[in-house]
Amino acid sequence: MEKLFERQGMLCVISGPSGSGKTSVCRTLFERGEWIYATSCTTRQPREGEVDGRDYHFLSEDEFMNRTLCGEFLEFAKVHGRYYGTLRSEVVGHLKAGRDVAVDIDVQGAALIRMCADPVVRGSIVDIIILPDGMDELRNRLAGRATETEEQLRVRLENAGAEMRQWTAYSYVIVSGSREEDVESVRTILTAERCRSSRLRPAEGADEEVAGARMRESLPEIEQTEIFTPPPGREPST
Ligand code: 5GP
Repeated sequence: MEKLFERQGMLCVISGPSGSGKTSVCRTLFERGEWIYATSCTTRQPREGEVDGRDYHFLSEDEFMNRTLCGEFLEFAKVHGRYYGTLRSEVVGHLKAGRDVAVDIDVQGAALIRMCADPVVRGSIVDIIILPDGMDELRNRLAGRATETEEQLRVRLENAGAEMRQWTAYSYVIVSGSREEDVESVRTILTAERCRSSRLRPAEGADEEVAGARMRESLPEIEQTEIFTPPPGREPST
């Protein structure tokens, strides 16, 4: 069937404190074909079971710094004492090709992406923060996954409050329930965001009468002025 519209991809910025379940939501939606998951770079050590190139690109600090100097990162930040960054190469080409990309990044990274000079990036952002239903819940989740030492756990919990207070900077806030509920909430947001008229442009060869409205809308519309013309005898008195 002939396509009426095309759109640029969305850059789905997913934040939330460690233990909020955001990484698992990102992975599930990647497996279901909803988006591409951009693999970040980090200088932290791999956890058991993590695979280089899939979970992260694990880099030494020197290599990370070299890449920052070469301008390879869309954003980078120090989180829990380690560096993390999003490679431009994992994001920009996909957006231009109309593919949606998810980045699982902290609140500093999200703020930097909102300030990005590239209009393709800025115009594509859909930012969502996933919050736990209280600090006790977060503590239980973090302790339950047993991937951190006592000290790492303490730092992550200490940073969680500061991250959560940034919720007003995001367009969407999800208070975490079960993993399936969180996945469904994000999927619902994606479905709505994909229909935003501001993201659409006429597809090549589409019916010009309908799809071309985006191009015509900046021109004065004769019909629109007629709608507001009062009927005879009802002209406003001057
Ligand atoms: P973890 O070590 O638990 O995998 O991630 C720690 C934190 O770093 C999480 O909040 C995660 O969202 C964030 N993070 C992961 N990748 C990036 C990135 O590329 N940039 C930024 N700014 N934060 C990231």
